[in-house]
Amino acid sequence: MQGKCEFCERDNVELTEHHLIPIQYGGRYLETCMICIPCHKQIHALYNNMELSYRLYTIKRLKNDYKLSRFIRWIQKQPSTAIVTVKKYRKRKNTRY
Ligand SMILES: [Zn+2]
Ligand SMILES: [Zn+2]
Repeated sequence: MQGKCEFCERDNVELTEHHLIPIQYGGRYLETCMICIPCHKQIHALYNNMELSYRLYTIKRLKNDYKLSRFIRWIQKQPSTAIVTVKKYRKRKNTRY
């Protein structure tokens, strides 16, 4: 599914469903949001399900979190197409003697 990420608000990105309350904590039928893959990965990389369920259970709370707000500022500058790839550096040409 493609659309606008509810988190970083970039458009035309591949979206995944995030359970605001993790399923493990009873969130199976509760609110979810559609966010892009990098945002989703970042959220789960920074916080465990327990923190998500008792502290970061709304989009607004997530966005206000210090670590994630820094991430959003960064990712909003990335084009929607080339976000998941890691920067590749060109090999330097051998110095000629
Ligand atoms: Zn996003
Ligand atoms: Zn998730």
